Amino acid sequence: MAGRNFVGGEWVDSVEGNIRDILNPATGAVVASVPEGTQADVDRAVAAARGALGDWSETTPAERATMLLQLAEAVESNADELIALESLNVGKPRSVAAPELPFIVDNLRFLAGAARGQESPAAGEYLRGYTSMLRREAVGVVGLIAPWNYPLMMAVWKAGPALAAGNTCVLKPSEQTPLTALRLAELAADIFPPGVLNVITGDGEPVGAALVRHPGIDMISLTGDVATGREVARAAAESLKRVHLELGGKAPVIVFPDADPAAVAASIRVSGFWNAGQECAAATRLLVQRDLYEPFLSALVTEVEAIVVGRPDEGDAVEMGPLISDEHRRRVLGFVERAREGSHATVVTGGGALEGPGFFARPTVVTDVDQDDEIVQREVFGPVVTVQRFDDEADVLAWANGVQYGLCASVWTRDVGRAMRAARALRFGTVWVNDHLPLVSEMPWSGMRSSGNGRDMSRLAVEEYSAVKHVMVNLA
Ligand code: NAD
Repeated sequence: MAGRNFVGGEWVDSVEGNIRDILNPATGAVVASVPEGTQADVDRAVAAARGALGDWSETTPAERATMLLQLAEAVESNADELIALESLNVGKPRSVAAPELPFIVDNLRFLAGAARGQESPAAGEYLRGYTSMLRREAVGVVGLIAPWNYPLMMAVWKAGPALAAGNTCVLKPSEQTPLTALRLAELAADIFPPGVLNVITGDGEPVGAALVRHPGIDMISLTGDVATGREVARAAAESLKRVHLELGGKAPVIVFPDADPAAVAASIRVSGFWNAGQECAAATRLLVQRDLYEPFLSALVTEVEAIVVGRPDEGDAVEMGPLISDEHRRRVLGFVERAREGSHATVVTGGGALEGPGFFARPTVVTDVDQDDEIVQREVFGPVVTVQRFDDEADVLAWANGVQYGLCASVWTRDVGRAMRAARALRFGTVWVNDHLPLVSEMPWSGMRSSGNGRDMSRLAVEEYSAVKHVMVNLA
């Protein structure tokens, strides 16, 4: 399979003609090649997006909504192909890739409605003799930079609200997983005018970084690692572009003594290991009240050892696929090895790679960790959970908040008061009570602290990609 970039409504090779191989992480085999972009590709795509902006900004919300609904329809009609492509490029088993599609379609349908339903204070005379009104306008040309763990969903979470708000876009998928973003461009090509949505492939440096620096880009939206977020924010500061950042996570799961240990363990089997733990929302830090610790750990180990690991083509029972690359697997296993070699941590199950081709690692549970340990403090982004024991509500809330990340958390209890106290105290953009992972299009997905400042999904996402203008009319 040979991919090309989509720029100004046309399929093009990279300006300098370089290409890059794309691997299937489940086998290590090359499955496609795509253009390897440079600054020249960014210049060409930004010019196309700027050229399209004038006419696009004349479209009404209803016209943009109609196109977003058509895109939702096209994605839905091609769902099987998109699932297969995501499995091929990310190694996701069908059980993980398939549920994404209805959600992505719903995201697009919701955004189509949100395009037509922006809100503002009522126009009125807030100063005698003047009428004030608020206009909500597009920011302009938006650079969209996506990660590899949810390539299609992240492309839609970015391009969807940006287009709904009337911007034109240049989307750069991850250099490792460009295939579904290119297919999305193909589906969008028949719906949106040329130049409105451009997709270019290539590395963070030079392509992502060139988007951030480019004077023709008005806003950058990045989903990625905290370190990348810092670099992008620093570079964007030069031109004071608006920056939307959705970064890493290290979700705590607080298990109070009135929770059902078997039910929580069954949930962690999914939420801790979904997408092989390559999930910003993954349930990674399990904080369990002392009385429940032993029954919970025993149930958890049973669940984790039962996880079916395999290639996508090994059937519907497969729950967990490979990691994205050999390099990433080494990074993930490095955290486990360093924890094991330290004096106190215990690897209760898992640890290490699985035999054979493909970048598989064992589902892993690490106990006897301290709050300051690297494996507790840093995002591992693999199939690894840690378990800590607590005695006291105040301590556990401090530990839960005691990391740099603030993306999401969960609390497990039947005590409504305790759940509400915890939900209030936790400094995370999403807090679940008695569950971990479900999302809805109507509610925002956003981080606090080092997890970033962006808001994806919901009506707020459309606001993120729009500028407000106060128009004040002297009535004299
Ligand atoms: P990454 O930061 O390595 O890369 C993300 C994107 O940024 C890629 O397209 C990459 O090419 C680009 N990039 C890299 N360096 C750049 C630079 N200097 N300038 C501009 N662009 C640059 O992240 P990843 O490994 O692809 O994805 C995993 C990370 O994403 C994890 O930390 C995960 O938690 C996070 N993530 C967050 C969310 C969320 O909603 N908060 C969702 C998914 C993933």
